[in-house]
Amino acid sequence: MERTFSIIKPDAVQRNLIGAILQRLENNGLTVVAAKMLHLSAQQAEEFYAEHKGRDFYEPLVNYMISGPIIVQVLQGENAIAKNREVMGVTDPSKAAQGTIRADYALSVRENSVHGSDSPESAAREIAFFFTDNEIC
Ligand code: ATP
Ligand code: MG
Repeated sequence: MERTFSIIKPDAVQRNLIGAILQRLENNGLTVVAAKMLHLSAQQAEEFYAEHKGRDFYEPLVNYMISGPIIVQVLQGENAIAKNREVMGVTDPSKAAQGTIRADYALSVRENSVHGSDSPESAAREIAFFFTDNEIC
């Protein structure tokens, strides 16, 4: 079974959407095998999004990601990486398919409610960024 890494971002936690988002993920065959709530430091957010350093959206992205608590999770399931991306919808909520998390809940391209790893390499890196092996069930 494949694993992926997911974040319920500050805009969604703040609007009490944790349950609704987890329900969508679980309804689509993704099982939570690790989860915690935390408030990222600027240094953690900068490192997590290091691939975007230098882009115009990088600084506002970091500021948004440290604006409030988030839920980080490891999800497991058949084709979990692609399945999670499908259930999330594309980055820009105005372009996201009907019925996706971002189409229904995201506020903007930046405040787009969820994160999901985009490849096996990112999933491995991102899971290890937040969880030790013995925190994953
Ligand atoms: P994520 O990595 O969070 O799952 P993604 O893979 O769909 O989202 P990326 O291109 O990796 O999108 O961008 C990371 C995050 O940076 C986006 O989810 C969004 O919050 C923000 N972002 C990306 N592009 C823009 C943009 N043009 N304007 C504002 N924010 C952006
Ligand atoms: Mg991405």
